[in-house]
Amino acid sequence: MHSLSTFLPPERTLMGPGPSDVHPRILNAMARPTLGHLDPLFIELMDETKKLLQYAFKTDNALTMPLSAPGSAGMEACFVNLLEPGDKVLVCINGVFGMRMVENAERCGAHVFTVNNTWGEQTDLNEVEAVLKANPDIKALAFVHAETSTGVRNEAKLLCELAQRYDCLTIVDAVTSLGGIELDVDGWNIDAIYSGSQKCLSCVPGISPVSFSDRAVHVIQNRKTKVQSWFLDMNLIVGYWGQGTKRAYHHTAPVNSMYAMYEALLILKEEGLENAWARHANGHAKLAQGLESLGLKLTVDSAYRLPQLNVVKIPEGIDDASVRKQLLQDYNLEIGAGLGEHAGKVWRIGLMGYACKPRNIDHCLAALKEVLK
Ligand SMILES: *Cc1c(COP(=O)(O)O)cnc(C)c1O
Repeated sequence: MHSLSTFLPPERTLMGPGPSDVHPRILNAMARPTLGHLDPLFIELMDETKKLLQYAFKTDNALTMPLSAPGSAGMEACFVNLLEPGDKVLVCINGVFGMRMVENAERCGAHVFTVNNTWGEQTDLNEVEAVLKANPDIKALAFVHAETSTGVRNEAKLLCELAQRYDCLTIVDAVTSLGGIELDVDGWNIDAIYSGSQKCLSCVPGISPVSFSDRAVHVIQNRKTKVQSWFLDMNLIVGYWGQGTKRAYHHTAPVNSMYAMYEALLILKEEGLENAWARHANGHAKLAQGLESLGLKLTVDSAYRLPQLNVVKIPEGIDDASVRKQLLQDYNLEIGAGLGEHAGKVWRIGLMGYACKPRNIDHCLAALKEVLK
């Protein structure tokens, strides 16, 4: 890169934990003329985007919208809106993002219970039930559906059933699951859910779709204290994203990024949710077979592996950083490093959204074969 000249990034193949390759239709959408953020045409686009998001989440929740901030803000929005100081919450931890949920809950002044399971394993439903049973006043159960740090799928449907049985709300991280694996917000009775734009939706980073059930909305509207974050207070955001044509300024939406979000959701709708899930499953099967034939081992049990995020053990004697550097320099290929306690021990190969296609899988396998020689 040279200073004081236009930045022209190379075309990489993004097969890490996100961002994933952005669909060219989405990049084109972003390059269109910027409208005023209260322009009636932009408001129409906001309404259409909400409908498409309801489709993607499988929900009729009226409070469904993309927040103008990354997935981490979606996480924070769910916690700050549902929790008040002194509330009890149970957080399931089996990777980095569960730990972040604890950070968020603590900063809300909540009393946080945790169920800790080994990284690479699923959250243990019996342990969750034991805590819920012993503490009937727990207000919410929070967990990560697709733990991007470990490649593990947690049993979202069963965890939500437990939460219902013990009468608590659910807060679900679907940043990596939305568009990649089965997710059914209404069918599973999820109360608060957030996702991200740059994983299986293949959109540019910086947008976080969220959805809240009527039960969650009731809780938010009947808080004793103000939501600690002004920007993420859903009571205020609805004035901008809410129903009807009357919209009030809250913040300036990233207009062009919202064109991108709309296009990403449109592409998902055109493909069909179930077809997108099947494409990820097929891509995973092809990649896993290829990795195994190179002598590489996937670390997560096939029963609860994420097809969109494949965790591979780094073979003995191989230097993590130099392999990733060579893949990037010589093959324009990005794969992910291990996170937290997995740093240096594994690679994370993403097959997210538009990046999940045979050409990428072949490119990745061929490059790894050369570099590992
Ligand atoms: C990526 C990710 C996030 C954070 O999203 P950002 O857009 O990076 O803020 C949260 N949870 C999970 C499971 C993720 O994979």
